[in-house]
Amino acid sequence: MNYIQLEKLGEGTYATVYKGRSRTTNEIVALKEIHLDAEEGTPSTAIREISLMKELKHVNIVRLHDVIHTETKLVLIFEYCEQDLKKYMDQHGDRGALDPNTVRSFMYQLLKGTSFCHENRVLHRDLKPQNLLINKKGELKLGDFGLARAFGVPVNTFSNEVVTLWYRAPDVLLGSRTYSTSIDVWSCGCIFAEMISGVPLFRGRDNQDQLLHIMRIIGTPDDRALRKLAQDSPEITIKQYPRYPKISFQQVLPKASPQAIDLLENLLQFDPSKRISATDALLHPYFTGTVSTIPYGMNAPPGSMPPPPYNYPHPHAHHHQQQPQQQQQAYVHAQPGMGQQPHMGPPTMGQPNMGQPNMGQPNMYAHQDAARYSQAAQAMAQAQAQAQAQAQAAHAQGLAQAQAQAGYGGYAPQYGQGGR
Ligand code: ADP
Ligand code: MG
Repeated sequence: MNYIQLEKLGEGTYATVYKGRSRTTNEIVALKEIHLDAEEGTPSTAIREISLMKELKHVNIVRLHDVIHTETKLVLIFEYCEQDLKKYMDQHGDRGALDPNTVRSFMYQLLKGTSFCHENRVLHRDLKPQNLLINKKGELKLGDFGLARAFGVPVNTFSNEVVTLWYRAPDVLLGSRTYSTSIDVWSCGCIFAEMISGVPLFRGRDNQDQLLHIMRIIGTPDDRALRKLAQDSPEITIKQYPRYPKISFQQVLPKASPQAIDLLENLLQFDPSKRISATDALLHPYFTGTVSTIPYGMNAPPGSMPPPPYNYPHPHAHHHQQQPQQQQQAYVHAQPGMGQQPHMGPPTMGQPNMGQPNMGQPNMYAHQDAARYSQAAQAMAQAQAQAQAQAQAAHAQGLAQAQAQAGYGGYAPQYGQGGR
């Protein structure tokens, strides 16, 4: 082989990844070794990965230089990246949380890479921090297209089990097989929240539990919305779900700027048809606002890689000022009044116990994360308790008003208002 194999970089489902050096050019590369079963030959996942990756040439997609195919193994030669996003957050983050400028740069690059895939009719289907690679220039690149597949029309024959649980879109969890680019957009939203807080946003143990984690934050869709989902994808099964009120993302992520919250809101829409596209998300004011609008001036910890300033648009970039209409179109899903919710106080003890680290995916995150998770879970539990109380209060007030209109309990409205 034309490459010297150096230390091991990582291991996944089908492959072991090593650092390598080219004997001819001395270039450092990543060697992804896929072990072949002598009987079965080259797995179809590998063939898919190769044919896709060779075509996808973009600064935010890990570059496939070469393929070596022998009797016993298949080695993909990729450009080398210093680490993946999970390791980056662990090493450079403040308990995993990245500073606002780094989050913005990485988010922009993530959406750029994703948008490029989608424009080329490729779904990634497994976007998560471990599959995003960061090089020493601070460039973020989509990697691991093992599960990806070029999609044409119709798109309704995909298998159900694709996106890793925590980053899996609710429509997929409900059993939808007609999903499209919107599943990657959901994953981008989950990764965005995780970069801001340092903790994965929805940490379910299994399919159903994952769905409930999502509903506890973004709220249970009402019957009409659920019926629409079932109409859009007839193969999904709608069950009875607890009626969780929506919690504002500002309460879940108190550190995030209002613009970040608004973008997140657009990315994490329960209904896939309402999710913003990666291409439109790139035009969001979160990327065009100035740094000073981000109120949390956390500096990057020493030794962290500076985000590449050329990879996100200049605050006053000319072409953005020329596209006000396009921008407006892109944000039709924004909720009115976002970012105006009262901030939560510090988390208190004695909240429902939601701080268990995820047991269903033991290899995904080391137990060192447990303390971080339980803190986040406490804050979340408090936000949920408050949202529940607000929903109950609103319900009680509505009831009182309805009773007043029906002609009995005439004092109820005044009582309701006086009590607030
Ligand atoms: P799998 O399909 O087995 O999950 P990945 O391509 O995700 O394989 O690689 C597994 C791990 O190896 C990644 O999470 C990352 O830490 C490391 N890795 C993969 N590709 C590279 C690369 N090009 N440069 C550096 N590290 C890499
Ligand atoms: Mg992987």
